[in-house]
Amino acid sequence: MPTARHRKTQPSGARLRPVSAVLVLAATATVLAGGLSVRLGPAWYYRLLPLCPRGIVVHHSATPTYVEGRRVDAAFLDEVHASQGWGIRHGDRVYHIGYHYIILPDGTVEVGRPEWMPGAHTVGHNNCLGICLVGDFSQRVDGTAPPTQAQIDALVALLCQQLKKHSLPLARLYRHGDLGATECPGAGVPWERIVARVKARCGG
Ligand SMILES: [Zn+2]
Repeated sequence: MPTARHRKTQPSGARLRPVSAVLVLAATATVLAGGLSVRLGPAWYYRLLPLCPRGIVVHHSATPTYVEGRRVDAAFLDEVHASQGWGIRHGDRVYHIGYHYIILPDGTVEVGRPEWMPGAHTVGHNNCLGICLVGDFSQRVDGTAPPTQAQIDALVALLCQQLKKHSLPLARLYRHGDLGATECPGAGVPWERIVARVKARCGG
């Protein structure tokens, strides 16, 4: 028969074991997180749980194609966005640019931030990929030209590729203005024609 003293001490010993286990687990998790951070960079958790985009949002840069003689491209926009504090560090680099892809007037597609990173382009919808057409296609600008044919062709191809890659339906294709109070990417973007071409090319 256990004595009263035994009965009293047993539960107290049992309480210690889970506490110790939690401490050991916490220490292990800290060491593992530190190791992953060293290996994959401070944003390692995005690599383990990569962004599964819930849609694709199309923007314009709302700039001319050249500013003070300098071409507006991914590097230029990265510098502009640096002043807005949207950066995510990965390895030795901080990605300031909020878009995942940039399409230049000649149809060149440049990579902004990696696809697995959340974007910084649409408030409340940064779990979507962001694609930016360089140029200003809003009606506010005198003499606004639509995007170039090369830009539209590249956009259609990129949209098809990304919709397929992430198993997204056509209904998850948005203009920035569909999700917030902005005219981005501008009335100069022939949206209905672009969506029709994407549908004809890759279904949805
Ligand atoms: Zn926008």
